[in-house]
Amino acid sequence: MLGVDRKTLHRFESTGILSDDILDKVCSLSGYGRAFFERPILDAPNPGAVSFRSHRSLTAGARDAALAAAMLAFEIDDWVHDRFELPTHSLPQVINRTPTEAAAALRAHWGIGEKPIANMINVLEAHGVRVFSLVEETRHLDAYSFWRNERPYVFLNTLKTAEHSRFDAAHELGHLVMHKHGGPIHRNAEDEANAFASAFLMPPADLCAHLPYVRSLNDILEGKKRWRVSAAALNYALHKHGLLSDWSYRGNYIQLNKIGRSEEPNGIERETSQIWKKILTALWSEGITLAHIAKELLIPERELSNLLFGIAAPLQDGGARNLGGLRLV
Ligand SMILES: [Zn+2]
Repeated sequence: MLGVDRKTLHRFESTGILSDDILDKVCSLSGYGRAFFERPILDAPNPGAVSFRSHRSLTAGARDAALAAAMLAFEIDDWVHDRFELPTHSLPQVINRTPTEAAAALRAHWGIGEKPIANMINVLEAHGVRVFSLVEETRHLDAYSFWRNERPYVFLNTLKTAEHSRFDAAHELGHLVMHKHGGPIHRNAEDEANAFASAFLMPPADLCAHLPYVRSLNDILEGKKRWRVSAAALNYALHKHGLLSDWSYRGNYIQLNKIGRSEEPNGIERETSQIWKKILTALWSEGITLAHIAKELLIPERELSNLLFGIAAPLQDGGARNLGGLRLV
């Protein structure tokens, strides 16, 4: 798009020196102004500490796009942090436990018993996790998460089914509490995070209490409404906890594959962020729009809305003042 050969492009990348007319082209192609490229380099997450879902098949380009999205998210987060009192994190580090034990320990730590989780995004936010939506360039990633000093971040793909996205949120929570000090994510980490998500969303005791007998797939399609998970995830959990025979599990699995994975039967409504809605409403009532923030941060407005509006429901009424525990400082 710049009309230069590969060698010239490599030189730009290694030296960071671009002629005036090339820089103008970069600006008009990317939507970023010159001031953005002249500012100090943004804070970036350490790639080794980021848990990428389905990272085995991750290309370097997709990884870099995800890390770049995180850098922009830091900018927004810091901007908001200077103006609002947000919950500090209350995520304990749970080590030397099985994923199922870790999920139970976290529920106990948060005092939320064994009841189903109504909204995963809200639970994360209430415990100090910053949640963002994945941007266009990273939409084939499921989700990712990492710690930045003492602030945990989760990025969710809101183009997947609502159940899938909820499971991803619980999966990333598993990484945050179990694998903070794991350095590069170890080989079993993905399986552990999946097992954690399953137990966190569907505590074994609650499964036993509410679905002790499964007569047909229909019981699963009805039952999934309680835990707000996919039929496949519930089928798997029931089998794992001995509530479903191998034979029934396999039969359900085949039937569910026929129905198709892209469209979830008895699908639930997509979860949205409470915190972003409150923040944007509060700012709006002060006359501050996304365009103002974008200008201040030297970031195109579209980048901000990509990161926020996958999870923040559109504002109904700019003047609404339901700010809950948030305070403009
Ligand atoms: Zn993972």
